[in-house]
Parts: sequence; structure tokens; C-alpha cells
Amino acid sequence: MNDPLRMLSIGAHPADIFDQSGGTMAHHAARGDWVGCVVLTHGARVHDQVISEEMFHRDAVPEADELRNTMRERAGVKEAETRAACAALGVEHIVFFGADDAVLLVTEEVVRRLARVLRELRPDVVLTHFPKEDDGITSPHAITGQIVMHALRLAGSVDPGDRNPPHRAAQVFYFGIGAAATRHGLWDQTGGYACDVFVDITDVAEKKLAALDALVSQGYGGAYARKRIETSDGAFGLAGNCAYGEGFISHNPTTHYYLPVTDHALRQARSSDHEVMDGYSFKLPV
Ligand SMILES: [Zn+2]
Repeated sequence: MNDPLRMLSIGAHPADIFDQSGGTMAHHAARGDWVGCVVLTHGARVHDQVISEEMFHRDAVPEADELRNTMRERAGVKEAETRAACAALGVEHIVFFGADDAVLLVTEEVVRRLARVLRELRPDVVLTHFPKEDDGITSPHAITGQIVMHALRLAGSVDPGDRNPPHRAAQVFYFGIGAAATRHGLWDQTGGYACDVFVDITDVAEKKLAALDALVSQGYGGAYARKRIETSDGAFGLAGNCAYGEGFISHNPTTHYYLPVTDHALRQARSSDHEVMDGYSFKLPV
């Protein structure tokens, strides 16, 4: 089965898809796979230069209507940055789902709407947040993962008003960050989940850097983008035996005719100690 894959990365906020899967998206786009992404919320409240930064230290924030207008404007700025970041990775298909990021909940309305998107776009592979990330209750990342799971289930069936036939994805990969990373809060210690798939993104780390650099309004450009890639992707790289990696947790166990051994694992096994260290030791130019 050598048809191009259809891959969809679904993130809670505009930056998430790039943080978590930018390198992986770049690889699949370069291979000729169909690569799309869904930004579930407008993300105006998250790290925004105006909404979450400049208003933080004011005596009072604007009246409701003015605030709503400003949030719409800021969401527009984030959309433009998201398009620029996708262009850096060779990704063209973006769905701005537009859910409000105030209190994100698993609602029937959001699930039905996302299920329709899945029936339309028909992804073979879905990447999204781990549904138990953080506390699994208030984290917009966890809620997004849960909404995706519900929507995938519903997409496998018909729904009146949607003429697209049912659709099932072959695999779901959860973003490793927040699920299997260093503890940030109390609930992070309850899971014990570990990434079982790493994608070596070393050859496209500079493309990922360009994507993060495009996210100016939320302060990602410059030093943060470099630190983010060195620390998170560098740590996944160490775990996955490469310079920079992205880590994922597979939802489904996989079935093979032969036992799966990757080219990467064979190369590692046949390399000397220092050859392995050389593989780790590439560093992005500052
Ligand atoms: Zn996020």
C-alpha cells in the first residue's frame, strides 16, 4: 500500500501543532503525503502579546464589546502567523475550527462539528494531544484530545446533515509532551505513560525553527524557539537516539507480517559508541 498517507494534526492552540509535530509534518509533506492541520480554538487568550500580556498589568480591561473586537483582531493575527508557520513546513491545508478558548469543554456541538471535518478530510493518521494530559479536567490540551477521540468515534458512523460517508482513521498518535515529559504539576505523575514512537527531525529542525519563529504574537520567535527545540526536541532526540526528535504515544498496537525493526535501530546497533554520540551532537546554529 504505497498510496500517499493522509495525515491530520489537531492542536488546541495555534502553536501546538508546530511545537509538537512540526518536524513530522514537514517530513510527510516532503514525501508527498497529504498533510493537514486543525487549530481547534482561536487561541487569542494564550500567550498573546495584547490579550494576555499588555492587559495583564492594566488597572482595568476594556468593556465587553471592545474586548471582543480586540480578541477577534488578535485571533486574525494568529491565523496569519499560523499560515506562515505552515508554509515554512510545506503544509497547505489548515482548518481554523474557531472554538472559544475561554472554557473548552467536550460538548456534543463541538464533537459533531469535528466529526464532520474528519469525514470530509478522511485522515489515515491523526496526531493530537494526550487525552489525560495534566489533570485531564481543565487542560485545553487534554480536552482537545478527548474531543478528538469522541469525534473519531462519531466519524465512523453517519450523521444526518452530513452527506460524507463514515470514516475511520488507521492510527492515532498522541503528542508526547505533556503526557510523558518532565513533571510540571501534581497530576503529571499519575500516568506513567511513555512515548513509543520517535521521529528523527534533525534534517528539518531548521524548518521547524522557522515555523516557531513565525509565531511572533505569542512570543515564540527568537530565543524561545531555539530553547524550545534544544530542550524538548533535544530531550526526545536523546530518548530516540538522534539529535532532535518528536515523541508520540501510539493509540493502537500494530500488526505486522514480519517483526518490525527500523533502519534507524539497525544503524544504531551497528555504530560504535562515538559514532552514536556524533549522531546526538549536531546543534542548530544560533
Ligand atoms: Zn497549547
